Amino acid sequence: MTAELIDGKAFAAGLVDRVAAAVPAFTAARARVPGLAVVLVGENPASAVYVRNKLARTAAAGMRSIEHRLTVDVTEAELLALVAALNADDAVDGILVQLPLPGHIDEAKVLVAVDPAKDVDGFHPVNAGRLATGLPGLVPCTPSGCLLLLRDRLGDLSGAEALVIGRSNIVGKPMAALLTTASATVTVAHSRTRDLPDHVRRADVVVAAVGVPELIRGAWLKPGAVVIDVGMNRVARPDGSTRLVGDVNFGEAVAVAGAITPVPGGVGPMTIACLLRNTLLAAHARAGLPLAAV
Ligand code: NAP
Repeated sequence: MTAELIDGKAFAAGLVDRVAAAVPAFTAARARVPGLAVVLVGENPASAVYVRNKLARTAAAGMRSIEHRLTVDVTEAELLALVAALNADDAVDGILVQLPLPGHIDEAKVLVAVDPAKDVDGFHPVNAGRLATGLPGLVPCTPSGCLLLLRDRLGDLSGAEALVIGRSNIVGKPMAALLTTASATVTVAHSRTRDLPDHVRRADVVVAAVGVPELIRGAWLKPGAVVIDVGMNRVARPDGSTRLVGDVNFGEAVAVAGAITPVPGGVGPMTIACLLRNTLLAAHARAGLPLAAV
């Protein structure tokens, strides 16, 4: 068997188009475009690239992006004051504080300070609680993107054996909650899991969010399984350059799986597309405007 490639890049482009198509109706109703504020603290090069991409895509979708760059020595109180000002600014629908923050700032304190209605990352405990209890709210972007890819591929996930590998607050746990709500039978594996290959073998759907390059081997997979590889790991080539690999050994898995996301070009583009979608959803919810599914 050769697995079908799940083209996250193409799916994400379509999603961004649908988001962009919904902006004019919001603008007509509210006399402004949806606004996303992005806060970057310090000079972390990877964070700077992420923020640049997010701002560019927001503008490309016809929304307003507002960038706040703070120096690495900003105090926690100053950052919290900025978050409070963004909470109070009616033109701001979404607030994203790029992580990681410098060590002297308590990340949890900052994330809790964001108005849950503007929490487009879906990291606020109120939104995590809403997701866990099946209430509407803002859902973290990466698992949200994974679910869209799975639904596009499989349609109904009801009764599917789903394995989520990883239990982080930003990927693994919300992914498990989404799959549970979709009526899959969900197992969550982590670093203390005994016999990971045995769990993988039973899964119709595998979502790998581990951060260990090529941990999941092709021989572990159930033939025909749908594999969503969230991992983004930079590994060295013999010549000293680097390449990006996932948490799944793609070369092996492609011969066994029914469908698989490549790395890069799978889950990555979906994360930014879902951030734009969340900004659109937040703008409509705050304005009390209905929004057809995007
Ligand atoms: P994280 O916070 O480090 O969590 C990793 C999880 O994997 C933990 O729950 C850990 O278990 C588990 N784990 C570690 N080693 C394991 C092993 N040998 N077997 C089974 N489970 C193991 O990472 P994250 O933030 O969720 O990110 C995971 C990966 O996704 C990373 O490669 C990251 O770069 C990538 N990512 C990609 C996107 C995207 O847009 N494509 C977005 C976010 C993250 P314990 O809880 O027991 O420690």
